[in-house]
Amino acid sequence: MTVGQVLVINSGSSSIKYQVVDPVSGEAVLAGAVERIGETGGPAPDHRAGMREILAEAADALRDVGVVGHRVVHGGELFHRPTVVTDDVVAGIERLAPLAPLHNPANVIGIDAARALLPDAVHVAVFDTAFFHDLPDVARTYALDAKVAAAHGIRRYGFHGTSHQYVSGLVAGLLDRRAAELNQIVLHLGNGASMSAIRGGKPVDTSMGFTPLEGLVMGTRPGDLDPGIVPYLLRAGMSADRVDMLLNRQSGLMGLSGVNDFRELHRLVESGHPAADLAYRVYLHRLRHYLGGYLVELGRVDAITFTAGVGENDARVRADAVHDLDRFGIRLDDARNAAKARGPRLISAPDSPTAVLVVPTNEELAIARQAVETAANPQPPE
Ligand code: ADP
Repeated sequence: MTVGQVLVINSGSSSIKYQVVDPVSGEAVLAGAVERIGETGGPAPDHRAGMREILAEAADALRDVGVVGHRVVHGGELFHRPTVVTDDVVAGIERLAPLAPLHNPANVIGIDAARALLPDAVHVAVFDTAFFHDLPDVARTYALDAKVAAAHGIRRYGFHGTSHQYVSGLVAGLLDRRAAELNQIVLHLGNGASMSAIRGGKPVDTSMGFTPLEGLVMGTRPGDLDPGIVPYLLRAGMSADRVDMLLNRQSGLMGLSGVNDFRELHRLVESGHPAADLAYRVYLHRLRHYLGGYLVELGRVDAITFTAGVGENDARVRADAVHDLDRFGIRLDDARNAAKARGPRLISAPDSPTAVLVVPTNEELAIARQAVETAANPQPPE
């Protein structure tokens, strides 16, 4: 099999995003999305039709695609590495649907449609949880009744794994060090946000847990809450679905300020909007709480890396996140941090014991590369 281009599919409940990626050069040959699937006036009545649209749009680029990489949100305890898709694998992803009701069923629909329309390609599922599968027991265990936790598969799984793995993997090269000797903290700050602590290439902690709700304050999710709030709201008459909606869509920066985009949030703060100011400070307070925790957990930190929409673009968030941490060996270079640049870069002062970096994430490329590797060396799912 020649390594041609790879089609990467990210299928959500009402959209399919795709890229055709050259896994060697890293170039995205083509990118697009079919959105509003199933909605009246939308471009496609269902995912199969959406996938047909994509194959028509991308026909030229797809001529030499032999591998399709599918982003799958939850691999649960079943999948901890990229896996060639078979009927059994699809059934496994379906069985995990209760753990990710918004995501896994949509991922399965996308996989089914792509397999039906590209039957000769090797399809590989790449899981968002896989990188964190072997978290140390202390980091993956909730202090719940162990029998209840075991019966329901309740543990900390972690998400954004493809991004944390890709970004931390690049850092070693950028610093000209071996990954095995580096202690790292990665801040994936997008609309969803998570942080991980990585020792010698292996994650030892991460801020998202059983679902992508735990941890940092996010665009529309609250991150950590007193769990007592949930039964309290249920008893107050809210349905479970309503609480789910509250936690996934109406909380975080949005819930506090009415906006979830940092560009708008900064504008509101500058215009003296008290709720936006509070939202920004709550966001940073939580972020620094995790940063402190991971500094202590790792003991020595060689690199702190910012990635994703906010981490890559928002110099103010980066400056405030590591502000006044000189005594911990973390010193930003203000000019480097403020420079309008793209691409991986160092933003710490030359004499900062801990390197601070910005490294753009590229989950599609990471999925494409893992899919090619897995297609060439398929491993049985264990
Ligand atoms: P996701 O993949 O989780 O949807 P992204 O990683 O694309 O999110 O991040 C999206 C967020 O990045 C936006 O909501 C916005 O807050 C932030 N963002 C994007 N561009 C900028 C920018 N130039 N300055 C500040 N924040 C930005």
